[in-house]
Amino acid sequence: MYRYKGSQRDLIKYCRRYDGVICYGCGYFGKITATYLRENDIDNIEFAESKLQEGKTVFGKQIIEIGDKRFCSYGVVLCGNKTIRMEMEGTLKKTGRKDYFLISEELLEKLDSENTYDNPFPIDGVRVLLYHRVGYIENDLWKLSVTVEQFDEQMKYLSNNYNVLRFDKEWAAEENGIAVTFDDGYVDNYRLAFPILVKYRVPATIFVCTGNIDTEKEFWWDEIEGACLRGEDESGCYEHRKRVLKMSVQEREKYIYELKKLYKYEEYKRNNYRTMSRREIRELASSDLISIGAHTENHICLAARTIEEQLYEISESKKCLEQITEKKVITFSYPFGGRYDYDKKTIDVVRKLGFIKAAAVERRYSEETNLNYPRSVVTSEMGLRTFKRNIALQL
Ligand SMILES: [Zn+2]
Repeated sequence: MYRYKGSQRDLIKYCRRYDGVICYGCGYFGKITATYLRENDIDNIEFAESKLQEGKTVFGKQIIEIGDKRFCSYGVVLCGNKTIRMEMEGTLKKTGRKDYFLISEELLEKLDSENTYDNPFPIDGVRVLLYHRVGYIENDLWKLSVTVEQFDEQMKYLSNNYNVLRFDKEWAAEENGIAVTFDDGYVDNYRLAFPILVKYRVPATIFVCTGNIDTEKEFWWDEIEGACLRGEDESGCYEHRKRVLKMSVQEREKYIYELKKLYKYEEYKRNNYRTMSRREIRELASSDLISIGAHTENHICLAARTIEEQLYEISESKKCLEQITEKKVITFSYPFGGRYDYDKKTIDVVRKLGFIKAAAVERRYSEETNLNYPRSVVTSEMGLRTFKRNIALQL
């Protein structure tokens, strides 16, 4: 069996000799390579895997079996990392294949850096994006914000390239879909994000933490940040946040009260750090693009608290938002959303309260598909290319 290796040019030359190309390997290597070939006008691309999984697709395509008749007339590009390469070569040999082109780690890096990801393949299923704030924030210590310009170009890109779906609707398995969500309910969602969502007709779900509605009070992590920056104690932010994370609401409030007193933070009021008001939430909920979801009353780490506290936090935020919007609130997002920020008991509470979908960041239970949806966090450090790449490669 002849093994071709070489540069980007050699790869293209090899592929052009055939009617089509089979990318053998559907992971990171396969996706980057297929994107490169497509961006270089090689369109007839199939994917093959050693072990076929029922119903699994890559870039919206059915995966073909090793030894499929196309293995005779197509070029084969071996897309696997060092640890599985030998095994793949062995499998390929058994098919009677005479040659293949090997994608080395070095070549993969070059292909990836040349890919623009401007014209993406369809993605498999639906990806859910997580935003928090839109607008320029001077000290964005928690990395919650993207700028207005970034958000505008991202929404434009999504609306041009994907089916932008509502988080609160049923999705078909094969949808090339993206759902946009926001956590917390910062006022900039209303002031800055909403006009852009309207401009591109992109629907979004906003999960609102209800405890501070119609007050000027900042979210507790922002109070910590504000106090620490005022006290010129930036590193203290992280330490204090860690300390209060698993506290009860009362303990946490007392702790932060003392911290603010220590750094004389009271006189500071940052108008763009508040939660949306009842009027603003109601206006968004009345738009056909926005659905409002719950996000607890006080943004606690649910898994660290008693079942009674969890029930109170989740049901209060639901009740409050239903009263404001005069609509049923059927979606929820777990505060923080990490694997250990919610557990089976939390999911049971969410189900009992009648939520049909719940969003996390990391999925913890594969069997609870709809009640711990994973999401990809979007931050301002991501340039547009990285944003496109992460979605295209389904990272
Ligand atoms: Zn949150």
